[in-house]
Amino acid sequence: MDKIKMTTPLVEMDGDEMTRILWKMIKDELLLPFIDLKTEYYDLGLEYRDETRDQVTIDSANAAKKYGVAVKCATITPNAARMDEYHLKEMYKSPNATIRAILDGTVFRAPIVVKGIEPTVKTWKKPITIARHAYGDVYKASEMKVPGAGKAELVFTGEDGKEVRELIHEFDGPGILQGMHNTERSIGSFARSCFNYALETGQDLWFATKDTISKKYDHTFKDIFQEIFDAEYKEKFDAAGIEYFYTLIDDAVARVIRSEGGYIWACKNYDGDVMSDMVATAFGSLAMMTSVLVSPDGTTEYEAAHGTVQRHYYKYLKGEETSTNSVATIFAWSGALRKRGKLDGIDELVQFADKLEEATIETIESGTMTKDLALITTLENVNTVNSEDFIKAIRVLLEKKLG
Ligand code: NAP
Ligand code: MG
Repeated sequence: MDKIKMTTPLVEMDGDEMTRILWKMIKDELLLPFIDLKTEYYDLGLEYRDETRDQVTIDSANAAKKYGVAVKCATITPNAARMDEYHLKEMYKSPNATIRAILDGTVFRAPIVVKGIEPTVKTWKKPITIARHAYGDVYKASEMKVPGAGKAELVFTGEDGKEVRELIHEFDGPGILQGMHNTERSIGSFARSCFNYALETGQDLWFATKDTISKKYDHTFKDIFQEIFDAEYKEKFDAAGIEYFYTLIDDAVARVIRSEGGYIWACKNYDGDVMSDMVATAFGSLAMMTSVLVSPDGTTEYEAAHGTVQRHYYKYLKGEETSTNSVATIFAWSGALRKRGKLDGIDELVQFADKLEEATIETIESGTMTKDLALITTLENVNTVNSEDFIKAIRVLLEKKLG
């Protein structure tokens, strides 16, 4: 069989610990035998990030912007313990935060649904994708402890020196205060990323805030979404047979629980933080959650939603067997290859991505899976395998599918 040719390189961002081990296994077993893999490689492993003082992370994000599609392995976000462990020169920021700041994107998280791993919510049949706005609100707020009685005001000083004031509260005793913000530009980027992703995946888009209570703040989110939708997307949505609809967040929660799934749920920053963990858990496992960052210019970066699975890595280093789930990382690769194939008009690459995903899902549905899934599956006669044998089992099915 001839290997599938690529024309444009994928930006490959390698990572840390157990996921770095899986990364190589996936390439060796599931990609390189079938594709003439063209990547521009960036090593985001912590040692090399430190060696380059994190320049490699910035370079990789710029490469993603240049080529349009990236695939990323999970990476360590340094903390005090990692400073000692890796003798780091600095406590670098999370690579994801650095990349997100450069690409200005929205993060979409979707569960990989398989038979045998049943959602806690019985009505859910299709995945629910959470689109989380990744800028501002409570994540960039100023807070204050109020020591005692007094008046709190919001003050905005324009460039011309003019002040606008709004009373927050007349305190008659100690309390707390918080001031947060967002920008029309960021909200607009968020909206466009959501509309583009809905079109690309052919799914309805839901958006919800608390605009009845927050008549200026949340209402502005609602208005910006609606204006951009009417001006730029309504016709495209009609043509694609999909829908955009806005509702109150309380109503959205009730509808989500009663729904079958199969749509994108756009959430403000805090709502998305909380709801994505709720949805991931209710669908079964963090190891079965994909994540894709989409920037307003269309650049996409695919990754797994989980971390570097440190505990398994330490076992691996001791020579012990691990049973680490590689599904989300495999789907990061298939997502990126499919996108590259679509952009470059390489049908074979798109079909390869589809088959790789089918082979992965069918392997689990036939009863062969890693330990994390074996613990929660409803299937009987489960064959629990180690990290490597799971990937090898997928390869057997993939080879069949590729003829
Ligand atoms: P984690 O790597 O997601 O793992 C937490 C636990 O979840 C694991 O110990 C394991 O449970 C289970 N798990 C997660 N993924 C799994 C998989 N693929 N297969 C089987 N089990 C899996 O989170 P963490 O331990 O909190 O973080 C480790 C490192 O990852 C940290 O340095 C953090 O900074 C980094 N991180 C990176 C990203 C990213 O790059 N996007 C995201 C989150 C965290 P058991 O041990 O019980 O088997
Ligand atoms: Mg969270």
